Amino acid sequence: MPELPEVEVTRRGIAPHVEGHQVSGVVLRRSGLRWPFPPDLPSLLAGRVIRSTGRRGKYLLLHFDHGTLIIHLGMSGHLRMLPHGQVPQKHDHVDLELPDQVMRFTDPRRFGAVLWHPSEDGDVGQHLLLRSLGVEPLGRDDLAQLLHRGTRKRSAAIKQVLLAGDIVVGVGNIYACESLFEAGIHPNTAAKRISLARYAKLAAAIQRVLSAAIAQGGSSLRDFIGADGASGYFQQSYFVYDREAEPCRQCGAPVRRIVQGQRSTFYCGRCQR
Ligand SMILES: [Zn+2]
Repeated sequence: MPELPEVEVTRRGIAPHVEGHQVSGVVLRRSGLRWPFPPDLPSLLAGRVIRSTGRRGKYLLLHFDHGTLIIHLGMSGHLRMLPHGQVPQKHDHVDLELPDQVMRFTDPRRFGAVLWHPSEDGDVGQHLLLRSLGVEPLGRDDLAQLLHRGTRKRSAAIKQVLLAGDIVVGVGNIYACESLFEAGIHPNTAAKRISLARYAKLAAAIQRVLSAAIAQGGSSLRDFIGADGASGYFQQSYFVYDREAEPCRQCGAPVRRIVQGQRSTFYCGRCQR
């Protein structure tokens, strides 16, 4: 599933191809994915210029003068830039046609979304899907304070609080496991019992883990953009994630797996307290 790093790498990959370019047409090959597409999207966007790209959590944003196109990659979606004339395949649902190339949205499992937020409805951050999202984790100096302050009444396990995304976005299952390992925090610890000093370690770990994933994805940008359709959801070498019973890379103890909220959590019982 594309997580924040994949979405950010996708944004960086398409940005130079779409920013400042005029949309010449929109092709919708079905009526919607997770939700219906705006049926008037072709007339809304034809002739309009994509001013800039953005991202909020896992939502990719294409800003126009008259509104913002919101794209979510769902469970399996990806965007590619292709030359004109490439025959669409079964799971190619949306094309945004530009003068020189096509931005094609492919989504085999169809959990993705393409939505329109008109500028007369105000800032896109106030869109129903975006307004209750937590803060962006990258480039924030106050992440530890936000986590500490936001959890004083939260008895839930810190892993669950991270996944909930209402304090900080983008810390999905893999990155929650890895960040908690780096910070030495047991995933079952009640969020409200974690000190500010430990949240400082966690905040730094979250930022380091996500930045590393983006950097790694950046090196495979061509896979996202290439016409061959190889999609690059990056495999990294994890400390604990998906390593049940394998030796902890730090202390050698076997990595453990527990289930929290129906998701697997991987951790080291010796390094994480
Ligand atoms: Zn260990």
